Amino acid sequence: MDSFVYNANPGRVVFGSGTLKQLPEEVERLNLSAPLLLSTPQQVSQAEHLKQVLNGKIAGIFTEATMHTPTDVTEKALQYAKDIKADAVVSIGGGSTIGLGKAISIRTGLPHICIPTTYAGSEMTPILGETADGVKKTRTDPKILPGTVIYDVDLTMTLPAAMSATSGVNAIAHAVEALYARNTNPIINLLALEGTKALASSLPEIVENPSSPSARSQALYGAWLCGTCLGSVGMSIHHKLCHTLGGSFNLPHAETHTAVLPHAISYNAPRIPEAMKKLADALPESNGDAIHGLNVLLSKLKVKRGLKDFGMKEEDIDKAADIAVSNPYWNPREIERAPIRELIRRVWAGEPAR
Ligand code: NAD
Repeated sequence: MDSFVYNANPGRVVFGSGTLKQLPEEVERLNLSAPLLLSTPQQVSQAEHLKQVLNGKIAGIFTEATMHTPTDVTEKALQYAKDIKADAVVSIGGGSTIGLGKAISIRTGLPHICIPTTYAGSEMTPILGETADGVKKTRTDPKILPGTVIYDVDLTMTLPAAMSATSGVNAIAHAVEALYARNTNPIINLLALEGTKALASSLPEIVENPSSPSARSQALYGAWLCGTCLGSVGMSIHHKLCHTLGGSFNLPHAETHTAVLPHAISYNAPRIPEAMKKLADALPESNGDAIHGLNVLLSKLKVKRGLKDFGMKEEDIDKAADIAVSNPYWNPREIERAPIRELIRRVWAGEPAR
């Protein structure tokens, strides 16, 4: 075995069905008494429900969390947190709401309790992406990592089937890139494979029956493990491409991850034979071929495969290729413009990966 460094992220995880009931206990355990609850406008009712769970013992509710964590929204929330003398933040929602919780927590030092309702995995990472003047910047700091995460499977029941599918593939992408990360290690490999297996087996069932408790539970468990992978080791071509495409052409986060993943892996495949074999073993019906396994999974999930379906224009392919090669980063295979352009063209057109 090669030598390695493994950083166990601190943090407390409460997992199960109905675990939201334990929020008062968690708040008390941390000696907090005036939490600020955060949500998106779409999840106000879940934030209101949290207030009830806490018997009304909150400082306030802020329901303007927005995709890509714009700093003007953060400033508004910070002022509100100050005015109501909040002593903690509790975020309930997906990566957008958790991003706001992280942005407030890192600026104020307030403890952050996180209640994720998608599979994106932000709750497990010390990473924060924020947008100011149309530019998204990402930073990493151990202090960004939420202190407590409550996974309540019941809260994911309302995540629509289509969103569950793409959010779940977004999580699988974290695990896949962790398998071949430059700083990967055996522990993260175990989590990556277990997380991929859990999601790949449960997502097709969720698409058929979104209220299956066992499939929902498996998927959330998988998302937790995949999020841990994202928070522990470096990501490469897949995540960088999605960041470029999403940020530059305003494409939806999880859907972009879903369309790009098979193509990004196909690009790296010649340089990562071991990871490809492990991934194939984790995907049902792969017949020993990870790309085939992913193509089968995506067709079962009935997801859109082409970025043109999300409004990306054909003339943006060259622009995207230029941006993709302009910021050098580590990847198992060198980033070369011609094959990257072809990769982006294929994702744009929605052609299956080979
Ligand atoms: P999201 O948080 O933007 O949620 C999408 C929509 O679904 C929102 O309207 C939300 O209110 C709604 N929603 C969420 N859960 C629901 C549920 N259970 N039932 C009904 N509706 C629900 O989507 P996301 O994909 O979770 O997060 C995307 C954002 O998170 C992006 O900005 C991305 O960059 C960021 N992200 C950050 C990290 C990190 O480590 N920093 C990791 C992953 C994603």
